[in-house]
Formats: sequence, structure tokens, C-alpha cells
Amino acid sequence: MRKPYIAANWKMTKTIEETEEFINAFIPLVKDISDVDILLAPPLTSLSTASALLKSTNIKLGAQNVYFEESGAYTGETSPSMLLSAGCSTVIIGHSERRQFFAETDEVVNKKIILARKNNLEVILCIGESLEDREAGRTFEVLAKQLTGSLKDLPLDEITIAYEPIWAIGTGKTATKEQANETHANIREWLRKNKEGADAIRIQYGGSVKPENVEELMAQPEVDGALVGGASLKPDSFAKIVAGAIKK
Ligand code: PEP
Repeated sequence: MRKPYIAANWKMTKTIEETEEFINAFIPLVKDISDVDILLAPPLTSLSTASALLKSTNIKLGAQNVYFEESGAYTGETSPSMLLSAGCSTVIIGHSERRQFFAETDEVVNKKIILARKNNLEVILCIGESLEDREAGRTFEVLAKQLTGSLKDLPLDEITIAYEPIWAIGTGKTATKEQANETHANIREWLRKNKEGADAIRIQYGGSVKPENVEELMAQPEVDGALVGGASLKPDSFAKIVAGAIKK
């Protein structure tokens, strides 16, 4: 069985002080939960502080982005080794906001994953279709294209896929449990056909996951976890999502 995996993507929210406050409140709420992998991805400025606070817990630390070069004249960018030295085990790559606002293509995403894996960072790869694509019946065509480009020349080791329909991110609209399960099954089918070890790969659902809907999503056999934005910003809300992710 694949262990449930719940990740918080805080995006561009929380100062260092707010990060401290969250983590100090959150740790006791999840200290007895060992059946779920938990990851926090705060903004870059909070990573070192978060790393120190999470040290003796089993909560993992992730970054929301990384660059595809080791070092050099790339003002404003961050390399995998810098993330490792800040205490990260993991990096989220290819979030739809990166694709939309920072023009990240599958080719760029692929280069980022290659360098992250070379440095032994675990990766959460985000893919997802627009509402227009879904309504035109192109969902799987779009996802297959993203998977092909993003995972070019890569084995699946230490990669988690986050399926995030763009129309469900931050909108309050969630894919139905049937839509999520069916799409995850299609993603796994693509992985089986094209890569080794597809059955062990965890596929998270992302898009307006909250305490009220996490259990029904996690009850689907193909849903192995969640990538959570808005509802991960309050310790009690995120802790309820983690607790609700335990497979019954
Ligand atoms: C996200 O940003 O990855 C996300 C799923 O956001 P939200 O949960 O707010 O829809």
C-alpha cells in the first residue's frame, strides 16, 4: 500500500515569524500521526527557520521552486544544493502558477527535475489541465503531454505526481472524487506504459482540498495524498487534513 502523503504549499504567504507561529502550533497537533507523510513548503525566506523547528519531527521540509543550474550569474534564483543546505528534502516543481506567471514550460520543468534528482532532492511534479481543456475533452491529452515532457529521460525514483486541475486551484471548486480517481488512474496507466515502478508512485490530488472533503478524496483507491494551498495556512485546518488522510 502507498503511504498517504499530504503537502502544504504556502505560496507567497507567511513571514519568518508567522512560520514559527504555525510550526509551533502544528507540531503537537500531528505528533501522534505516523501513517501519513507530511511536508511543509514555506516561502524561501522561512526555510532555515522551519528546518530548525522541524528537526526532531518527522515533518518534511520542501521548497516551492528551484533553478536548473548549479550556480552562477542567475540573479534571484536558487540551486538544489542551496535548498539542501537550508534543510529541504523535497522541492515542488511545475506548479501551474509557475507555468502561468513565470512561463515555465515542460522543457524547463524537466531540466529542473533532472538537476534536483541529481542532488538527491525528492520532487513533487505538478500537472493539470485548464477548464477549457477539460470541457473540450482534452484532459488526458494535456496531462500525457506534460508527463512526456516533464519526465523525459527520468526514472520515477523519489518523484511524486500532484494532479492539480487548474480550475480547482484556489477557486473553492474541487474535482469530484470520481473525476480525481479516474484522472489519477489514467496518469498511473501512462506511467505503467512508459516508466518502471509506476505502482509505487504516489499521486496527490490538489485543488481546494479542505478538512471537509479530504476523507472522501482519500477514500478513492487512486488518490494517495493531497497538495494543499489555502487550507494549509492554519495549523488546525492543515492538521485536520492530515488526520483525514489516514486510509481507512
Ligand atoms: C495549490 O496551490 O497547489 C492548491 C491546490 O491550492 P488550493 O488548495 O488553495 O486550491
